[in-house]
Amino acid sequence: MWSMKTKIYIRTFGCQMNAADSGVMRGILEDRGFEFSEKPEDAELVIFNSCSVRDHAENRMFSNLGLAMKKNPEAAFILAGCTAKRYGEELFKRFPRLGAVMAPSELFSIGDIAEKVMSGGRAAALEGGSYGFVSRRGGVSEFVVIQTGCDNYCSYCVVPFLRDAERYRPAEDILREAECLAASGTNEIVFLGQNVNSYRDEKTGGDFPDLLARAAKIDGIRRIRFLTSHPKDISGKLIAEFASNPKLARHLHLPVQSGSDSVLKAMNRKYGSGDYLKILEKLRESVPDIAFTTDVIVGFPGETDSDFAQTLNLIRSADFDGVYVFKYSPREGTASFSMKDDVRDEQKKERLSAALALAKELALKKREGWIGQKAETLFENDDVGHSSQNYLVFKKGAKAGDFGGVRIKAVSGFRLIAE
Ligand code: SF4
Repeated sequence: MWSMKTKIYIRTFGCQMNAADSGVMRGILEDRGFEFSEKPEDAELVIFNSCSVRDHAENRMFSNLGLAMKKNPEAAFILAGCTAKRYGEELFKRFPRLGAVMAPSELFSIGDIAEKVMSGGRAAALEGGSYGFVSRRGGVSEFVVIQTGCDNYCSYCVVPFLRDAERYRPAEDILREAECLAASGTNEIVFLGQNVNSYRDEKTGGDFPDLLARAAKIDGIRRIRFLTSHPKDISGKLIAEFASNPKLARHLHLPVQSGSDSVLKAMNRKYGSGDYLKILEKLRESVPDIAFTTDVIVGFPGETDSDFAQTLNLIRSADFDGVYVFKYSPREGTASFSMKDDVRDEQKKERLSAALALAKELALKKREGWIGQKAETLFENDDVGHSSQNYLVFKKGAKAGDFGGVRIKAVSGFRLIAE
């Protein structure tokens, strides 16, 4: 039986969306009077917020779940997130101690589900649900979800099947949440969605740049970031917003995935490599100090040596500040699952190493260029912060919440060291 003193432990796997969802679940459960423990062994209810983006992520989560059940034989368990949506009630057979499985879209049911599970019941919340408002307190930098789901159906991606169609939170709810966070001391908000640039506020018709402009008016919010953007939705209006909104961090994470037009077509990305480079060029014209990071998949079905060489060329031409490189892995249910996975694993590994080596070379060169310059930095923790360009910055003696320009004296690994 549960009580107001029931202790909950939430473990998050996967992407920033999951991290944000876990923060929301925590806010809802705190409102219901639940308490939280630092370790799963001390909790009476353990929630795993799962990720299904790759086989490896799923398997790791399942083995951690089994281990947590073994280590805490008294606790009740809930599996939330994409893996719960993917396998549904089947999971009750594999893990008979599971009290509930809940899809990402059912996030706001967590209070009722937790109470039901703690009263000995079982729940499967796998369809429907809607994103509501939760009054949250936060740290220096906090995620705020503005959009869920995705309509893009990139041929390799399971997200549209697990997080449903695109839905947008009302701007009023988003801004109210950001105001609550600012009142509790948050200085930076990171707007999150699978595809933030397609955002629309149904009530006012306002788009994503309108939302950024409104958020910049909130007292206490000193910096705004956002993730993730799709190149096909980067508008001239967004570029203008970057140029005119001083609170917008000088950083854009814009996944390109490949430099080969035929691979991009097979991936169903809806842009060509030339379109992508044009966006970067326009942004650099308007915002000269902007930094770009990207995602790249190597070894997609049909990717030839020449396709991969085009990817390396694009990485060099784009002069990225950071590149996250992934080896293609087929996911059942996606369009690319039925394509022949014809790039040998050895070849995928070689391409991964080559792309990572180039990414490292560019990232170090970019960082060295900051030596002697002032980098506007927000310190999320004592001594550690991020510059507007999203570089990790170390400054001895800086306090969490400090914000302003710091002079960079050295580079250590990928970190900037400030005076
Ligand atoms: S834009 Fe493509 S890669 Fe991103 S979540 Fe949607 S389908 Fe997946």
